[in-house]
Amino acid sequence: MGDAAKYDCDLLISADYLIASASPAAGISGHRIIEDAALAVSGGRVIAVGTRTGSADRKAKRRLDLGRSLILPGLVNAHTHIAMTFLRGSADDLPLKEWLTRCIFPRERRLTPEIVELGALIGCAELIRTGCTAFADMYLFEDAVAAAVDRAGLRCLMGEAVFGFPTPASASAEQAFDKVRGQAERFRGHSRLRVAVMPHTVYTTGEKILRSCLDLADELGLPLHLHVAETAGEAEDCRKAHGKGPVAYCRDLGLLRPTTTLIHCVVPDEDELDMIAASGAQVVHNPRSNMKLASGVAPVPAMLRRGILPGLGTDGAASNNALNMFAEMSACALLHKGYSRDPTVCPAAAVLDMATTGSAAALSWPGLGRIFPGGPADLVALDLHSPNFLPLYNPFSHIVYAASGFEVRLSMAEGRILYEDGVFKTLDFPELCREAEKLKQWVSEKC
Ligand SMILES: [Zn+2]
Repeated sequence: MGDAAKYDCDLLISADYLIASASPAAGISGHRIIEDAALAVSGGRVIAVGTRTGSADRKAKRRLDLGRSLILPGLVNAHTHIAMTFLRGSADDLPLKEWLTRCIFPRERRLTPEIVELGALIGCAELIRTGCTAFADMYLFEDAVAAAVDRAGLRCLMGEAVFGFPTPASASAEQAFDKVRGQAERFRGHSRLRVAVMPHTVYTTGEKILRSCLDLADELGLPLHLHVAETAGEAEDCRKAHGKGPVAYCRDLGLLRPTTTLIHCVVPDEDELDMIAASGAQVVHNPRSNMKLASGVAPVPAMLRRGILPGLGTDGAASNNALNMFAEMSACALLHKGYSRDPTVCPAAAVLDMATTGSAAALSWPGLGRIFPGGPADLVALDLHSPNFLPLYNPFSHIVYAASGFEVRLSMAEGRILYEDGVFKTLDFPELCREAEKLKQWVSEKC
């Protein structure tokens, strides 16, 4: 008798609580809670979602009862520079310009693929440990990021950063385009790695390069991500140079469309918010990075009122300094209440939507961020025995306001367990700890 007859799924996971969703095709947003839950996984997909008792007769190859745990969709980090862990904590508490020109750029000028890969592996370990299973990444030497992501088992929308000046990775924007073409070819059909066109910003590229980015995205059928309207200074410079704000400038270039993701959007004006809503373009909100760099507060409540559901991202570890989506959700919910003096804005369920389905939309990868039959088996489980979860009335509340992220006891992407009860399954974490010392040495010697 073959396996097919003996078993009806690879893995049956059960837990006291599970957060399930409708498929993106159903057009129903939001998550719902199932108590005494079970889900069946086969071939990297969720094949059934139901209750423990309803699944008792299933013939599973492996059964995993997580007991008093909460299963939720793997969180999606919609914007980071994953390799920048190598600079984490090396320079804080400085004005943006000084921080960039004195601490970040001089070190990045000496970057190598080896440093990027090691920094990315450390970043991937942090994502896995804190419940994130997919992310969008913009950086130099993205091939090295891809190698790290593939080893870690995560999903990634990767983007070789495009600049209007030479970088250690590419002498010109054209060379960066060639890299993107090569990556798009190499990862075509890859189930966990996808490619996007990622011009860094309006002001570090220019009109000609932005138009070429749009052409490249069209030619290869790829999404496009760029940092936009991050600071008041950027918006002011754009108005001086082009007579309009950076979002309006992008709109007039034809950049605003559903497969374009605008990162930050801290300082769009009311008209620009309307342009984003009308175009269906995506937004990524990075509250901790915006606070740490004192960029300001993105108008997220005004976005939500217009029907824009932003994704949530950590940005890089040099400007956050954590790649922890639970910390990001908490910061998002608290920041907007405090800033608007309105405790009803950014409620917990909406913030979880941002970190799951909102971020998935920002990655142009709509199946992510939700648990539904037929969907990807990307999920995480929180250990509810943690004292900060006692008692439990509302799982959404604990996820956003009480969790640290380190209560994650299981992380899974594409049906493969990446972390389980203290053990990284795809990464040699003790070795990574030793290698992190080498990074520190490299930074102090080279810079
Ligand atoms: Zn960024």
